[in-house]
Amino acid sequence: MSTNAKLAAFAHVNHLAIPLPPDAVHEIVNHTAQDDERMWMRMGESVWSRPLLFNVTQGWWVNLTKATATGIVSRHRHPAPVTGYTLDGSWGYLEHDWVARKGTFIFEPPGETHTLVVHPEAGHMLTLFHNFGPVLYVDEQGMQTGFEDVFTRLARYKKHCAAVGLGEAFVKPIIR
Ligand code: FE
Repeated sequence: MSTNAKLAAFAHVNHLAIPLPPDAVHEIVNHTAQDDERMWMRMGESVWSRPLLFNVTQGWWVNLTKATATGIVSRHRHPAPVTGYTLDGSWGYLEHDWVARKGTFIFEPPGETHTLVVHPEAGHMLTLFHNFGPVLYVDEQGMQTGFEDVFTRLARYKKHCAAVGLGEAFVKPIIR
């Protein structure tokens, strides 16, 4: 079958698609390879975040984290689990001896306190993280010094989008 015929067949299937139930929320399709730099929010020295989904109904969010230099990103405790899938570079946690590289998937259980570091092997990283709940920032004794939840992260990204000229409305399509 030619590419055109395949596309035509796909369009036909699409036309016959069973519709979403009326109360369902809409899908999100985000082609981040076409991003411009303004869509990345600076989180610290050489660390950026590209939010992909804020779930304000269940309190979780998904984002890409990018770091361009070796070093400590942050120490925090997760009351809810987190998953990560490494797209590029190398990174890890001071509390664990493994190194995440391209293709590494991690699950961290609720209760985990860790210190994210960009491993010198590559000296940079790009990872897709799914935070299933808030993050508590802690000091070296594990005492809380701050927190982040879906609402603080969302507010921060809105402020960022306004500041770089994307406008607060840029965030709306990735809220569910
Ligand atoms: Fe973490």
